[in-house]
Amino acid sequence: MPQRTDSESRKLLQRLRDALADKSEGQERLDHITSIIADSMQTEVCSIYLFRDAETLELCATEGLNPAAVHQTRMRLGEGLVGRVARLGRNINAANAPATRGFRYMPETGEEKYSSFLGVPIQRLGERLGVLVVQSREARGFTDDEVYALEVVAMVLAEMTELGAFVGEGAALSARHQHPVLFRGTVAQEGTAEGRVWLHEPRVVVTNPVAEDTEAEKVRLTEAIATLRVSVDDMLDVARITDKDQREVLETYRMFAHSRGWLKRMREDIDRGLSAEAAVEKEQSTARTRLQSAPDAYFRERMHDLDDLSRRLLRILTGQGRETGADMPPDPILVARNIGPGELLDYGRSLKGIVLEQGAVGSHAAVVARALAIPLVIHAENITAEALNGDHVMVDGEQGNVHLRPEDNIVAAFRDKIAMQAKAQERYADLRDKPASTLCGTTIQLTMNAGLMADLPSLDGSGAEGVGLFRTELQFLANRSVPRRGDLARLYARVMDAAHGKPVVFRTLDIGSDKVLPYMKRPEEPNPALGWRAIRVGLDKRGVMRMQLQALIRATQNRPLAVMFPFIAQLDEFRDARAMVDDEIERERRLGHDLPSQVRIGAMVETPSMAFAPRSFFEEADFVSIGGNDLKQFFFAADRENERVRRRYDTLNVSFLNLLAMIVDRCAETGTPVSFCGEDAGRPVEALCMAAIGLRALSMRPASIGPVKHLLRRIDLGAARQVIDRARQEGRQSVRAPVESWLAEALAADTAAPALAGVFPPEG
Ligand code: PEP
Ligand code: MG
Repeated sequence: MPQRTDSESRKLLQRLRDALADKSEGQERLDHITSIIADSMQTEVCSIYLFRDAETLELCATEGLNPAAVHQTRMRLGEGLVGRVARLGRNINAANAPATRGFRYMPETGEEKYSSFLGVPIQRLGERLGVLVVQSREARGFTDDEVYALEVVAMVLAEMTELGAFVGEGAALSARHQHPVLFRGTVAQEGTAEGRVWLHEPRVVVTNPVAEDTEAEKVRLTEAIATLRVSVDDMLDVARITDKDQREVLETYRMFAHSRGWLKRMREDIDRGLSAEAAVEKEQSTARTRLQSAPDAYFRERMHDLDDLSRRLLRILTGQGRETGADMPPDPILVARNIGPGELLDYGRSLKGIVLEQGAVGSHAAVVARALAIPLVIHAENITAEALNGDHVMVDGEQGNVHLRPEDNIVAAFRDKIAMQAKAQERYADLRDKPASTLCGTTIQLTMNAGLMADLPSLDGSGAEGVGLFRTELQFLANRSVPRRGDLARLYARVMDAAHGKPVVFRTLDIGSDKVLPYMKRPEEPNPALGWRAIRVGLDKRGVMRMQLQALIRATQNRPLAVMFPFIAQLDEFRDARAMVDDEIERERRLGHDLPSQVRIGAMVETPSMAFAPRSFFEEADFVSIGGNDLKQFFFAADRENERVRRRYDTLNVSFLNLLAMIVDRCAETGTPVSFCGEDAGRPVEALCMAAIGLRALSMRPASIGPVKHLLRRIDLGAARQVIDRARQEGRQSVRAPVESWLAEALAADTAAPALAGVFPPEG
């Protein structure tokens, strides 16, 4: 069997580099390259298949197959051996191709003469670009050396494709990163935004995939690895990290940075003729492919570590990255694979929109994006590979669509939509100082949810009557260590100052589940959403909760204090938490500090158990706030972070409305004020139904107050209640359809009504 030496490999890559450097057109270059590869690999056939679109591969150049098949032969992803290589991201090495599983005969290519087949994916950082194939008559498997050599060639082709080397007259290949692309994702925060792409992790461009001087490349790699190791050691500064779990994770990270296997593989890639950068990318691509198919979560995590290290190494080698001080474009739309809450808070309100490849509706990033009121679309698959910094992008956070480099007609339609929304906002602004009074004369109190100082200006702009839910965890999530009492007290005081006497309900720290504080030890839990979170943490780790309560009491300075506890699941928890507030007030009194002028202590109802709590719970709570996001997930046993199950259950499901009605009735029996502060309060139809079953206070995102008020002011709650009751009697599963058709009719007569689209926003 033929053995290939490193020097043969290097010679081949140098010939490819020369082909890249010459002035020929894209197609000519591709043709030339296939003949160089076939010649060097001593195979009769070499073909390059590239993606026309995400699902279709096209034969773009060949040495050995019928030339007339070029740009004619196409296959879908997964179809035939070529399609399978592309789909799996793995090589296929077959001595007898026609007898190999998945083979599909393409008569126009004339390939029936060739028995052996070796296909390797052309991919860059896990992004599929195409497939490189060699074939020969002789029925033989290719040796490991030959496979490796072809992988190295494919890596260079990937870099060449990325650099646009195959674009031009007759190539029938379009330049990358220039065409409009539509990404369909999931809405995590509604809103629309137009702006320019700002990549959280900028793409590193490798302009020299082939080594000029192998030894020099190895020195560069060794030096870069040394720099990387120092930076990782600094970052970890193990002495400071006392948490055992965190230490373990970070030690693994360090282990990778010092891994000999990793370095050895990259050095071998360089020996074969790749530059240091291309070698790093080759190993990163392999890791990403493994990552995609890894079933084991632990293994996937480790692969992520390796991916992250490779990115750092590339930045060191190329000098590209954030450190180069590139300026954010105007109206930046952040594009990232994923992002943590702290990093998002660092960007703050400078962002116009956020698009992520991963993420979840209930994730930290979504919590922060919501607090910042920045449209957020998640699950925009592959957008980080497609988008370039500065690209024109439009984020439709109503439909979950992201238009990258949109065509003119899309731009026009999108701008019309934004203009219509702005008009609707103007209409809502007119309502700002009017009460949310229905046609039947009932007034609903509309307050806003907040979590940052920056939210407070919305109090005036939105017409909110106060803050119904101030999520205090964002300051904890954004910090690198537990915030200090004095800092928190100052912040809470500023929140109250900004509210100008309007009520603010502070919710104590709600961490755990998906809200993980990096500096707080957390046990591994099989079901974190059902685990040690919120008040459970507060009651077990009293120090932090006491400190927070002291900060709240000190912030009030003779003003009223309203505080509520998240995730109360039984009476004792509320009593215990309430007693802590009493103790802290007593302590402040002893210390001679100012006390709140009035103290109201409430509980969030987020678990179905509290709907059935003893009457004394409702008597002892000064108020109750229904946390519909959690309540709904526990009622339907459907994870709020899991899009697949979350969307199955409608808030207007009769069972859920019955539960809400029961809580409202129980509060009415004891005269306990009750509000609803989950996301659903901000959806006009849901808000209307809640009002119809007796809720008189709703807390929502500031931007929702206008649309909700606009609808409430045009309906009769008695009539809505009748529609709901009839649907219940008819044994329907959900009241949505009858309520929406009743509304459509009722509003049709109302000439002041905006398009129904504004009333029925898509479920987010
Ligand atoms: C809720 O669960 O409805 C709620 C308001 O709390 P959070 O979304 O912060 O869990
Ligand atoms: Mg909650």
